[in-house]
Amino acid sequence: MSDATSEQAASHHPATLAITAGRGHSGKSLAPALWASSVWQSADMADARSRATGVRSGEFYGRYANPTVSSFEDAIARLEGAESALAFASGMGAISSVVLALCSAGDHIVAQRQLYSATLAFLQGPCARFGIDVTFVDGTQPGAFAAALRPGRTMLAIAETPSNPLLEVVDLAEFGALRGPITLVDSTFATPLGQQPLSHGVHLSLHSATKGIAGHNDATLGVVSGERDLIDAIWAYSVLHGATPSPFDALNALRGVRTMAVRTKHQAASALQLAQALQQHPAVAAVHYPGLASHPQHEVAARQMSHFGTVLALDLAGGRAAAEHLLSSLQLVRVATSLGGPETIVCHPRSTTHASLTDDEAAEQGVTPGMLRISVGLEDPADVLSDLRQALATAPGA
Ligand code: PLP
Repeated sequence: MSDATSEQAASHHPATLAITAGRGHSGKSLAPALWASSVWQSADMADARSRATGVRSGEFYGRYANPTVSSFEDAIARLEGAESALAFASGMGAISSVVLALCSAGDHIVAQRQLYSATLAFLQGPCARFGIDVTFVDGTQPGAFAAALRPGRTMLAIAETPSNPLLEVVDLAEFGALRGPITLVDSTFATPLGQQPLSHGVHLSLHSATKGIAGHNDATLGVVSGERDLIDAIWAYSVLHGATPSPFDALNALRGVRTMAVRTKHQAASALQLAQALQQHPAVAAVHYPGLASHPQHEVAARQMSHFGTVLALDLAGGRAAAEHLLSSLQLVRVATSLGGPETIVCHPRSTTHASLTDDEAAEQGVTPGMLRISVGLEDPADVLSDLRQALATAPGA
Protein backbone atom coordinates (compact mmCIF):
# COMPACT_ATOMS: atom_id res chain seq x y z
CA MET A 1 0.00 0.00 0.00
CA SER A 2 1.30 3.46 -0.81
CA ASP A 3 1.65 6.26 1.73
CA ALA A 4 -1.50 8.13 2.69
CA THR A 5 -2.41 11.02 0.40
CA SER A 6 -2.10 14.46 1.99
CA GLU A 7 -5.93 14.87 2.12
CA GLN A 8 -6.27 11.55 3.95
CA ALA A 9 -3.39 12.39 6.27
CA ALA A 10 -4.96 15.74 7.21
CA SER A 11 -7.86 13.87 8.82
CA HIS A 12 -5.78 11.24 10.57
CA HIS A 13 -5.53 10.99 14.32
CA PRO A 14 -2.18 11.63 16.07
CA ALA A 15 -1.57 7.89 16.68
CA THR A 16 -1.91 7.31 12.92
CA LEU A 17 0.31 10.28 12.05
CA ALA A 18 2.98 8.78 14.34
CA ILE A 19 3.02 5.80 11.95
CA THR A 20 2.72 7.62 8.62
CA ALA A 21 4.94 10.68 9.15
CA GLY A 22 8.66 11.02 8.43
CA ARG A 23 9.00 8.51 5.61
CA GLY A 24 10.40 10.87 2.99
CA HIS A 25 14.02 9.70 3.00
CA SER A 26 13.65 5.92 3.27
CA GLY A 27 12.40 4.87 -0.16
CA LYS A 28 10.16 1.79 0.12
CA SER A 29 11.79 0.59 3.34
CA LEU A 30 9.29 0.43 6.20
CA ALA A 31 12.02 0.99 8.77
CA PRO A 32 13.83 4.35 8.56
CA ALA A 33 17.04 4.31 6.52
CA LEU A 34 20.22 5.13 8.43
CA TRP A 35 22.31 7.70 6.56
CA ALA A 36 25.60 7.63 8.45
CA SER A 37 27.40 9.96 6.05
CA SER A 38 28.73 13.27 7.33
CA VAL A 39 29.34 14.64 3.84
CA TRP A 40 27.73 14.57 0.38
CA GLN A 41 29.21 15.03 -3.05
CA SER A 42 28.19 18.12 -5.06
CA ALA A 43 27.78 18.10 -8.85
CA ASP A 44 30.01 21.13 -9.49
CA MET A 45 31.09 24.46 -8.00
CA ALA A 46 27.70 26.14 -8.49
CA ASP A 47 25.91 23.21 -6.82
CA ALA A 48 28.40 23.19 -3.92
CA ARG A 49 27.98 26.95 -3.49
CA SER A 50 24.18 26.81 -3.49
CA ARG A 51 24.22 24.03 -0.87
CA ALA A 52 26.79 25.86 1.26
CA THR A 53 24.90 29.16 1.22
CA GLY A 54 21.26 28.04 0.97
CA VAL A 55 18.91 27.61 3.93
CA ARG A 56 18.54 23.91 4.86
CA SER A 57 19.30 23.08 1.25
CA GLY A 58 19.79 19.37 1.87
CA GLU A 59 22.64 16.99 1.29
CA PHE A 60 25.86 18.91 1.85
CA TYR A 61 27.52 18.44 5.26
CA GLY A 62 26.39 16.71 8.49
CA ARG A 63 26.09 19.88 10.56
CA TYR A 64 23.71 21.34 7.96
CA ALA A 65 21.34 18.39 7.44
CA ASN A 66 21.15 14.60 7.36
CA PRO A 67 18.32 12.60 5.71
CA THR A 68 17.75 10.32 8.73
CA VAL A 69 17.57 13.37 11.00
CA SER A 70 15.27 15.10 8.48
CA SER A 71 12.88 12.12 8.61
CA PHE A 72 12.73 12.44 12.38
CA GLU A 73 12.20 16.22 12.12
CA ASP A 74 9.40 15.73 9.57
CA ALA A 75 7.63 13.26 11.88
CA ILE A 76 7.82 15.61 14.87
CA ALA A 77 6.67 18.63 12.80
CA ARG A 78 3.65 16.63 11.69
CA LEU A 79 2.77 15.56 15.25
CA GLU A 80 3.19 19.10 16.59
CA GLY A 81 1.09 20.60 13.78
CA ALA A 82 4.13 22.69 12.79
CA GLU A 83 5.49 23.85 9.45
CA SER A 84 8.99 22.75 10.40
CA ALA A 85 11.13 21.12 13.10
CA LEU A 86 14.83 21.07 13.87
CA ALA A 87 16.67 18.41 15.86
CA PHE A 88 19.69 18.84 18.14
CA ALA A 89 22.20 16.61 19.92
CA SER A 90 20.23 16.84 23.20
CA GLY A 91 17.37 18.68 24.85
CA MET A 92 19.89 21.13 26.32
CA GLY A 93 21.44 21.53 22.86
CA ALA A 94 17.98 22.59 21.67
CA ILE A 95 17.36 24.99 24.57
CA SER A 96 20.77 26.68 24.47
CA SER A 97 20.72 26.96 20.66
CA VAL A 98 17.23 28.47 20.58
CA VAL A 99 18.05 31.02 23.29
CA LEU A 100 21.34 32.04 21.69
CA ALA A 101 19.81 32.09 18.20
CA LEU A 102 17.09 34.50 19.26
CA CYS A 103 18.60 36.67 22.03
CA SER A 104 21.44 39.20 22.10
CA ALA A 105 23.15 41.23 24.82
CA GLY A 106 20.64 43.70 26.25
CA ASP A 107 17.63 41.51 25.53
CA HIS A 108 15.29 40.28 28.22
CA ILE A 109 13.75 36.82 28.82
CA VAL A 110 10.79 35.99 31.05
CA ALA A 111 11.00 32.40 32.25
CA GLN A 112 9.05 30.17 34.54
CA ARG A 113 10.82 29.61 37.86
CA GLN A 114 9.91 25.89 37.95
CA LEU A 115 12.30 24.56 35.31
CA TYR A 116 14.55 21.59 34.68
CA SER A 117 17.66 22.59 36.62
CA ALA A 118 20.04 22.67 33.62
CA THR A 119 17.67 25.06 31.82
CA LEU A 120 17.59 27.19 34.96
CA ALA A 121 21.39 27.03 35.25
CA PHE A 122 21.75 28.03 31.58
CA LEU A 123 19.49 31.05 32.06
CA GLN A 124 21.19 32.08 35.31
CA GLY A 125 24.79 31.43 34.19
CA PRO A 126 25.70 31.81 30.50
CA CYS A 127 22.75 34.11 29.74
CA ALA A 128 23.68 36.49 32.54
CA ARG A 129 27.33 36.33 31.37
CA PHE A 130 26.28 37.29 27.82
CA GLY A 131 24.23 40.26 29.08
CA ILE A 132 20.82 38.63 28.58
CA ASP A 133 18.61 39.61 31.48
CA VAL A 134 16.19 36.97 32.83
CA THR A 135 13.14 37.50 35.07
CA PHE A 136 11.72 34.36 36.73
CA VAL A 137 8.00 34.14 37.48
CA ASP A 138 5.62 31.60 38.97
CA GLY A 139 4.24 30.17 35.75
CA THR A 140 1.16 28.75 37.48
CA GLN A 141 -0.06 32.22 38.49
CA PRO A 142 -2.48 33.82 35.98
CA GLY A 143 -0.98 36.98 34.50
CA ALA A 144 2.54 36.34 35.87
CA PHE A 145 4.30 36.18 32.48
CA ALA A 146 2.41 39.20 31.10
CA ALA A 147 3.24 41.30 34.17
CA ALA A 148 6.98 40.67 33.75
CA LEU A 149 7.19 41.63 30.04
CA ARG A 150 9.32 44.67 29.17
CA PRO A 151 7.88 46.10 25.95
CA GLY A 152 10.52 46.30 23.24
CA ARG A 153 13.06 44.35 25.29
CA THR A 154 11.51 40.96 26.11
CA MET A 155 12.63 38.75 23.25
CA LEU A 156 11.63 35.34 24.64
CA ALA A 157 9.14 33.88 27.14
CA ILE A 158 9.88 30.33 28.34
CA ALA A 159 7.50 27.88 29.99
CA GLU A 160 7.95 24.22 30.89
CA THR A 161 4.72 22.28 31.32
CA PRO A 162 4.27 19.92 33.07
CA SER A 163 7.40 21.00 34.91
CA ASN A 164 10.31 18.90 36.13
CA PRO A 165 10.03 17.56 38.82
CA LEU A 166 6.93 19.08 40.44
CA LEU A 167 4.52 18.56 37.52
CA GLU A 168 3.28 22.14 37.69
CA VAL A 169 1.11 23.13 34.75
CA VAL A 170 1.15 26.41 32.81
CA ASP A 171 -2.03 27.53 31.02
CA LEU A 172 -1.03 27.23 27.36
CA ALA A 173 -3.91 29.40 26.07
CA GLU A 174 -2.82 32.27 28.32
CA PHE A 175 0.86 31.73 27.52
CA GLY A 176 0.16 31.55 23.77
CA ALA A 177 -1.77 34.84 23.96
CA LEU A 178 1.28 36.81 25.19
CA ARG A 179 2.08 39.62 22.74
CA GLY A 180 5.63 40.84 22.11
CA PRO A 181 8.05 38.01 22.85
CA ILE A 182 8.59 34.75 21.01
CA THR A 183 6.95 32.12 23.21
CA LEU A 184 8.70 28.78 23.84
CA VAL A 185 7.23 25.77 25.66
CA ASP A 186 9.36 22.87 26.85
CA SER A 187 6.75 20.15 26.34
CA THR A 188 9.03 17.20 27.18
CA PHE A 189 6.85 15.80 29.99
CA ALA A 190 3.76 15.71 27.74
CA THR A 191 5.34 14.31 24.53
CA PRO A 192 3.88 15.58 21.22
CA LEU A 193 0.91 13.26 21.79
CA GLY A 194 0.01 14.69 25.21
CA GLN A 195 -0.38 18.35 24.23
CA GLN A 196 0.16 20.63 21.26
CA PRO A 197 1.44 24.04 22.40
CA LEU A 198 1.36 25.49 18.86
CA SER A 199 -2.40 24.97 18.67
CA HIS A 200 -2.66 27.49 21.55
CA GLY A 201 -0.72 30.16 19.65
CA VAL A 202 2.69 29.33 21.17
CA HIS A 203 5.52 29.98 18.66
CA LEU A 204 7.92 27.14 19.54
CA SER A 205 7.39 23.69 21.10
CA LEU A 206 10.54 21.99 22.34
CA HIS A 207 11.33 18.49 23.61
CA SER A 208 14.15 16.56 25.12
CA ALA A 209 13.50 13.68 22.69
CA THR A 210 15.84 11.64 24.89
CA LYS A 211 12.71 11.02 26.99
CA GLY A 212 9.26 9.85 25.87
CA ILE A 213 9.76 10.47 22.15
CA ALA A 214 12.72 8.10 21.73
CA GLY A 215 11.23 6.17 24.64
CA HIS A 216 13.81 3.37 25.01
CA ASN A 217 16.75 5.00 26.81
CA ASP A 218 18.91 4.61 23.71
CA ALA A 219 19.07 8.11 22.18
CA THR A 220 20.14 11.58 23.32
CA LEU A 221 18.30 14.17 21.24
CA GLY A 222 16.36 17.43 21.29
CA VAL A 223 13.87 18.94 18.87
CA VAL A 224 12.06 22.26 18.38
CA SER A 225 9.03 22.90 16.12
CA GLY A 226 7.34 26.03 14.81
CA GLU A 227 6.81 28.24 11.76
CA ARG A 228 9.31 27.67 8.98
CA ASP A 229 10.86 31.16 9.04
CA LEU A 230 11.54 30.97 12.75
CA ILE A 231 12.97 27.44 12.57
CA ASP A 232 15.13 28.48 9.60
CA ALA A 233 16.50 31.39 11.65
CA ILE A 234 17.34 28.99 14.50
CA TRP A 235 18.93 26.61 11.98
CA ALA A 236 21.20 29.42 10.69
CA TYR A 237 22.58 29.80 14.23
CA SER A 238 22.59 26.05 14.93
CA VAL A 239 25.15 25.33 12.18
CA LEU A 240 27.52 27.62 14.10
CA HIS A 241 26.60 26.32 17.56
CA GLY A 242 27.11 22.74 16.39
CA ALA A 243 24.81 20.76 18.75
CA THR A 244 24.25 18.49 15.73
CA PRO A 245 22.13 15.37 16.28
CA SER A 246 23.57 11.95 15.52
CA PRO A 247 21.75 10.07 12.72
CA PHE A 248 21.88 6.92 14.91
CA ASP A 249 19.97 8.75 17.64
CA ALA A 250 17.49 10.13 15.11
CA LEU A 251 16.93 6.58 13.83
CA ASN A 252 16.23 5.31 17.34
CA ALA A 253 13.99 8.28 18.06
CA LEU A 254 11.99 7.74 14.86
CA ARG A 255 11.52 4.09 15.88
CA GLY A 256 10.29 5.50 19.21
CA VAL A 257 7.81 7.79 17.44
CA ARG A 258 6.18 4.74 15.79
CA THR A 259 5.27 3.20 19.17
CA MET A 260 4.79 6.42 21.14
CA ALA A 261 0.97 6.38 21.18
CA VAL A 262 0.63 2.91 22.68
CA ARG A 263 3.55 3.44 25.08
CA THR A 264 2.39 6.78 26.47
CA LYS A 265 -1.21 5.58 26.75
CA HIS A 266 -0.14 2.62 28.91
CA GLN A 267 2.36 4.66 30.92
CA ALA A 268 -0.04 7.55 31.58
CA ALA A 269 -2.80 5.15 32.67
CA SER A 270 -0.35 3.39 35.01
CA ALA A 271 0.92 6.74 36.35
CA LEU A 272 -2.66 7.78 37.22
CA GLN A 273 -3.29 4.42 38.90
CA LEU A 274 -0.08 4.73 40.97
CA ALA A 275 -0.81 8.37 41.86
CA GLN A 276 -4.32 7.50 43.06
CA ALA A 277 -3.09 4.55 45.13
CA LEU A 278 -0.07 6.32 46.63
CA GLN A 279 -2.00 9.39 47.77
CA GLN A 280 -3.77 7.11 50.26
CA HIS A 281 -0.48 5.77 51.69
CA PRO A 282 0.46 6.98 55.20
CA ALA A 283 4.17 7.25 54.33
CA VAL A 284 3.37 9.64 51.45
CA ALA A 285 2.72 13.27 52.43
CA ALA A 286 1.81 14.42 48.89
CA VAL A 287 1.53 13.10 45.35
CA HIS A 288 2.12 15.49 42.45
CA TYR A 289 0.39 14.37 39.25
CA PRO A 290 -1.74 16.59 36.96
CA GLY A 291 -4.29 13.78 36.51
CA LEU A 292 -5.28 13.89 40.19
CA ALA A 293 -8.32 16.03 41.02
CA SER A 294 -6.27 17.36 43.97
CA HIS A 295 -3.55 18.80 41.67
CA PRO A 296 -3.76 22.62 41.83
CA GLN A 297 -3.86 22.97 38.02
CA HIS A 298 -5.87 19.80 37.31
CA GLU A 299 -8.56 21.70 35.39
CA VAL A 300 -6.02 23.50 33.21
CA ALA A 301 -4.28 20.17 32.51
CA ALA A 302 -7.59 18.48 31.66
CA ARG A 303 -8.34 21.29 29.19
CA GLN A 304 -5.02 21.23 27.34
CA MET A 305 -3.64 17.69 27.71
CA SER A 306 -4.88 14.51 26.02
CA HIS A 307 -3.09 12.42 28.67
CA PHE A 308 -1.60 13.59 31.96
CA GLY A 309 1.92 12.33 31.35
CA THR A 310 4.01 9.42 32.47
CA VAL A 311 5.81 11.00 35.44
CA LEU A 312 4.70 11.65 39.01
CA ALA A 313 6.45 12.95 42.11
CA LEU A 314 6.03 11.98 45.76
CA ASP A 315 6.82 13.90 48.92
CA LEU A 316 7.62 11.31 51.55
CA ALA A 317 6.41 11.95 55.10
CA GLY A 318 9.78 10.73 56.45
CA GLY A 319 11.78 13.28 54.38
CA ARG A 320 15.28 12.60 53.06
CA ALA A 321 15.82 9.50 55.25
CA ALA A 322 12.67 7.91 53.85
CA ALA A 323 13.75 8.74 50.28
CA GLU A 324 17.14 7.17 50.90
CA HIS A 325 15.50 4.08 52.41
CA LEU A 326 13.18 3.71 49.43
CA LEU A 327 15.99 3.94 46.88
CA SER A 328 17.85 1.08 48.56
CA SER A 329 14.75 -1.10 49.19
CA LEU A 330 13.14 -1.22 45.73
CA GLN A 331 13.48 -4.51 43.88
CA LEU A 332 11.71 -3.96 40.56
CA VAL A 333 11.83 -0.18 40.21
CA ARG A 334 15.34 0.99 39.31
CA VAL A 335 17.21 4.03 40.56
CA ALA A 336 18.02 6.09 37.46
CA THR A 337 17.78 9.72 36.37
CA SER A 338 15.75 10.11 33.19
CA LEU A 339 12.16 9.54 32.13
CA GLY A 340 9.92 8.20 29.38
CA GLY A 341 11.61 4.79 28.95
CA PRO A 342 10.19 1.25 29.26
CA GLU A 343 11.51 0.63 32.80
CA THR A 344 9.92 2.31 35.80
CA ILE A 345 12.68 4.39 37.36
CA VAL A 346 12.90 6.59 40.40
CA CYS A 347 15.23 9.49 41.16
CA HIS A 348 15.84 11.82 44.08
CA PRO A 349 15.75 15.24 42.37
CA ARG A 350 17.49 17.09 45.23
CA SER A 351 20.63 14.94 44.80
CA THR A 352 20.53 14.55 40.99
CA THR A 353 18.57 16.74 38.54
CA HIS A 354 18.29 19.60 41.04
CA ALA A 355 21.53 19.01 43.03
CA SER A 356 23.04 22.31 41.88
CA LEU A 357 20.30 24.47 43.44
CA THR A 358 20.93 26.31 46.69
CA ASP A 359 18.62 25.33 49.56
CA ASP A 360 16.69 28.57 49.04
CA GLU A 361 16.26 27.91 45.32
CA ALA A 362 15.18 24.32 45.99
CA ALA A 363 12.65 25.51 48.57
CA GLU A 364 11.38 28.16 46.13
CA GLN A 365 10.93 25.46 43.48
CA GLY A 366 9.23 23.05 45.91
CA VAL A 367 12.00 20.44 45.50
CA THR A 368 11.97 19.00 49.02
CA PRO A 369 14.58 16.64 50.55
CA GLY A 370 11.90 13.93 50.70
CA MET A 371 10.82 14.22 47.07
CA LEU A 372 11.08 11.30 44.65
CA ARG A 373 10.31 11.51 40.94
CA ILE A 374 8.94 8.37 39.35
CA SER A 375 8.98 7.77 35.59
CA VAL A 376 6.40 5.07 35.00
CA GLY A 377 7.39 2.38 32.53
CA LEU A 378 5.68 -0.37 30.60
CA GLU A 379 5.45 -3.02 33.34
CA ASP A 380 2.10 -4.13 34.77
CA PRO A 381 1.30 -1.27 37.20
CA ALA A 382 0.25 -3.80 39.88
CA ASP A 383 3.85 -5.07 40.10
CA VAL A 384 5.24 -1.53 40.31
CA LEU A 385 2.76 -0.61 43.04
CA SER A 386 3.51 -3.70 45.09
CA ASP A 387 7.27 -2.97 44.88
CA LEU A 388 6.70 0.65 46.01
CA ARG A 389 4.42 -0.55 48.82
CA GLN A 390 6.92 -3.09 50.16
CA ALA A 391 9.64 -0.39 50.21
CA LEU A 392 7.32 2.21 51.78
CA ALA A 393 6.17 -0.23 54.48
CA THR A 394 9.52 0.02 56.30
CA ALA A 395 10.35 3.65 55.43
CA PRO A 396 10.97 6.10 58.30
CA GLY A 397 7.73 8.05 58.84
CA ALA A 398 5.52 5.17 57.61
N1 PLP B 1 13.83 19.68 29.44
C1 PLP B 1 13.31 18.87 30.39
C2 PLP B 1 11.95 19.13 30.90
C3 PLP B 1 14.08 17.81 30.89
O1 PLP B 1 13.56 17.02 31.83
C4 PLP B 1 15.39 17.60 30.38
C5 PLP B 1 16.23 16.51 30.89
O2 PLP B 1 15.88 15.84 31.84
C6 PLP B 1 15.87 18.48 29.41
C7 PLP B 1 15.06 19.49 28.94
C8 PLP B 1 17.25 18.31 28.85
O3 PLP B 1 17.27 17.25 27.95
P1 PLP B 1 18.62 16.43 27.58
O4 PLP B 1 18.99 15.66 28.80
O5 PLP B 1 18.19 15.59 26.41
O6 PLP B 1 19.64 17.44 27.24
